[in-house]
Amino acid sequence: MSGNESRLQAIRQISNRAPVATEPATRLEDIWATDVFSLQKMQKCLPKDVFRSVKKTIQTGEQLDGSIADVVASAMKDWAIAKGARYYAHVFYPLTNATAEKHDGFISVQKDGTAISEFSGKLLIQGEPDGSSFPNGGIRSTFEARGYTAWDVTSPAYIMETDNGATLCIPTVFLSWTGEALDKKTPLLRANNAMGKAAHRVLKLLGHTDIAPVSSSCGAEQEYFLVDSHFAAARPDLLMTGRTLFGKPAIKGQQFDDHYFGAIQERVQVFMQDVEERLYRLGIPAKTRHNEVAPAQFEIAPYFESANVATDHQQMMMTLLKNTAKKHGMLCLMHEKPFAGINGSGKHCNWSVSNSTQGNLLEPGDTPQDNAQFLLFCAAIIRGVHKFGPLLRAVVASSGNDHRLGANEAPPAILSIFLGEQLSNVFESISQGKVVGGDLKGVMNIGVDTLPVLTKDPGDRNRTSPFAFTGNRFEFRAVGSNQSVAGPLVAMNTMLADCLSWVADQMEVSMNGGADVNGAIQAVLKTVMDKHGKVVFNGNGYSDEWHKEAVEERGLANLPTTADALPALKDASVKALFEESGVLSPIELESRFEVYSEQYILSIEVEANLVVDMAKTIIYPASMRHLGDLAGAISKMEAAGLPADKSAAEKAAGLVKSMMASVTKLETALAKDDFASTEEHMQFFAKDIRGLMDEVRASADTLEGEVADDLWPLPTYQEMLFIR
Ligand code: ADP
Ligand code: MG
Repeated sequence: MSGNESRLQAIRQISNRAPVATEPATRLEDIWATDVFSLQKMQKCLPKDVFRSVKKTIQTGEQLDGSIADVVASAMKDWAIAKGARYYAHVFYPLTNATAEKHDGFISVQKDGTAISEFSGKLLIQGEPDGSSFPNGGIRSTFEARGYTAWDVTSPAYIMETDNGATLCIPTVFLSWTGEALDKKTPLLRANNAMGKAAHRVLKLLGHTDIAPVSSSCGAEQEYFLVDSHFAAARPDLLMTGRTLFGKPAIKGQQFDDHYFGAIQERVQVFMQDVEERLYRLGIPAKTRHNEVAPAQFEIAPYFESANVATDHQQMMMTLLKNTAKKHGMLCLMHEKPFAGINGSGKHCNWSVSNSTQGNLLEPGDTPQDNAQFLLFCAAIIRGVHKFGPLLRAVVASSGNDHRLGANEAPPAILSIFLGEQLSNVFESISQGKVVGGDLKGVMNIGVDTLPVLTKDPGDRNRTSPFAFTGNRFEFRAVGSNQSVAGPLVAMNTMLADCLSWVADQMEVSMNGGADVNGAIQAVLKTVMDKHGKVVFNGNGYSDEWHKEAVEERGLANLPTTADALPALKDASVKALFEESGVLSPIELESRFEVYSEQYILSIEVEANLVVDMAKTIIYPASMRHLGDLAGAISKMEAAGLPADKSAAEKAAGLVKSMMASVTKLETALAKDDFASTEEHMQFFAKDIRGLMDEVRASADTLEGEVADDLWPLPTYQEMLFIR
């Protein structure tokens, strides 16, 4: 195909597309969790004592009792086979953001040549994938590649159905043979535990006697783009990197705000319903869906669940969105910035901590005592965000998210915390001991006075804050759309574990010194505000004044790129945090720095190589054809004695020259391989390589506005964003 033939063909195919058949919606009650081996299902098919033991294991998060594993495995296998499964898979979450599976058949060939289905307790509890190709940051060398997977009983097994058959999936942790975590689930379980223990200490000091295990919850809002697959097929950049490396902004972008919460287009709605039906079968509580700010951008959010299950479900949701989109002839893009000039995609991670006896610990209560408890947990989080801001920035760092954070659409790369005016006033009044109006008369007396009613109205929310209190939870808004929520949840729970332990220590000291509970709380709150109140910011996080004030007056870190942010993982305070809480050993933490740095460099390298390739083999030839046409026309005109306008031809020729000069510079830069450290290597890619990529793109995008439309080979922003 030459010229823009592939582009035209895509448009023709999309215009001739048969309308998608809408299936009648199934009753939610009929499909809910049908593909999950839930507690209810286990209760039906397991002997009573076995069921009781499994249930206890799930509640306490312990390892399954080996003596009953065979019974559970056999029941699980029978259920899966009845649902059409022939294979089972240990599903795990390596240090990429992907989900990995090792499939094994239930088949067992007998001595007499017959075959039966078999699944032992041993196979259920533990698997041994050849993990040598997963990143491990130097923990294992490939010759001793053995890693093993172990069933995480707290996350239920389920059936994953594809057009090629059903598979029984078992969520697992992935560890090295020597016990080091090689995945994202292991530290999440450990962090949740550490936080729970510290919370228990604080609740006990507050006088509670009946205290159920405290754990964290997460509700993750997922943003994504949909592009017709015919267009995507003609864009190597979308296919290979998930974002457009070239492309002139559409004449009409998102400035009219006409997409946000607009009516959902029929084709997209059918896709969404299809996704939701699958999610419901898997027991994933999809709750809201809507158009997002940018054209062709959408959002889906489930109801919140326990952090561990929510994380597994989030991974499943990403897989389902991508696979279902393919079936509907679309490409689902979860890159943080697929299109320049319009909004990118994030994944707001709503997070709270609770238990069954005291409820949501981030919910202001009806009584002064409840409010005191709420303020204490809030204070622990304020301290955490201040002390470990750079860590929170590091766990959302990726090459994709670098395009989003710090631009004027997503939260800035400076970690601050939004409390809303009223809650901030309360903390202010505590630290300064003075009247601040509102419902508060005089100095607020913790444990005696009630809090003023805090506004939960969405209108009052601050969309420019990376970490915002939203009435009964915190919303970490800087997470990238493509990222696993595990890393952010590990960081938040671990920092909270540390800060709650500190709170408990402080209170014990005061109370041993004769203070009463309320006095001890008041003292902790004041200390937190005195030392860490600087991290509270309710203003416009996008403004230049804030960037200046945050860094110069408040001493907060501004870490715009992954290269700036990842080294926080090597910081002594972060090492101590993870080691003391038992969440990650120094070796495990170090390995994560290595893996994430390497991923960062590699992903930019792939993009840069593709920039060179596309400029040379797609954009340059198209532009030269265009120039050839113009030159031919100009010389014919001159031969005929007609006045020829050469300005456009000269401009295009100049752009081709400068684009190719930038390509040569980029190629030279890519050849550099003598870096003194990983940090230096990352900085070179963040600044030099990215800078040169932008240079090539600037010329190419201007060329797109000069070259004859019938010669331009790449589907345009207009086409990709507005034709569906
Ligand atoms: P937004 O106005 O931010 O779009 P939504 O009502 O769409 O808010 O909810 C965002 C997410 O927050 C949902 O997944 C919701 O279930 C979750 N959420 C609500 N309450 C809590 C909570 N206490 N803890 C964690 N997540 C919560
Ligand atoms: Mg939201």
